[in-house]
Amino acid sequence: MGVIVVTGIPGVGSTTVVKKALEKIEANYVNYGDVMFEIASQRGLVSHRDEIRKLPEDLQRKIQKEAAERIASMGGRVFVDTHCTVRTPRGYLPGLPKWVLETLKPKQIILVEADPEEILRRRISDESRKREKSPLEDIEEHQEMNRKVAMVYSTLTGAIVTIIKNHDNRLDEAVENFVKSLVV
Ligand code: AMP
Ligand code: MG
Repeated sequence: MGVIVVTGIPGVGSTTVVKKALEKIEANYVNYGDVMFEIASQRGLVSHRDEIRKLPEDLQRKIQKEAAERIASMGGRVFVDTHCTVRTPRGYLPGLPKWVLETLKPKQIILVEADPEEILRRRISDESRKREKSPLEDIEEHQEMNRKVAMVYSTLTGAIVTIIKNHDNRLDEAVENFVKSLVV
């Protein structure tokens, strides 16, 4: 039935929102980072998922392409939990370059957003991840880059772009808006 891409910068809670939504609707789910981690760790390239974005860019793109091909073979309505852009130590890597879009053919791109202050607090309290404790301006810049590139992805594919706010203590509202906005 089609691919729905769900994105959000690290710490915004996009995985939490999509997993909660899956309690209410019928769909498949795949985490792009899981697929990339499986490929990269099998080759002995990384031992933690947060090391993937620090690999040489060409290698990230190669693993990214292989992951897209694996994901595209899934059927039905599929939520693909991923990133519009990945912050590497050297700059922003597009999460959905042209060849990934051509493979996945998404019908919708959902951006889960929150206020930079909320995201910073969530990152600081999440000890399971090796996330950078970026200053607020970096968080703001990353969300801005993601909005812009989402419209480029939309222009290339015709996918609808939807923004869902995931504010503190309002997860149910975010999930409700998420479910209501689905196009497939
Ligand atoms: P996550 O757990 O969603 O933060 O994903 C873990 C890691 O997987 C990210 O930090 C990226 O290095 C990588 N990743 C996930 N989605 C993509 C993508 N579309 N393109 C490139 N790298 C990705
Ligand atoms: Mg996530």
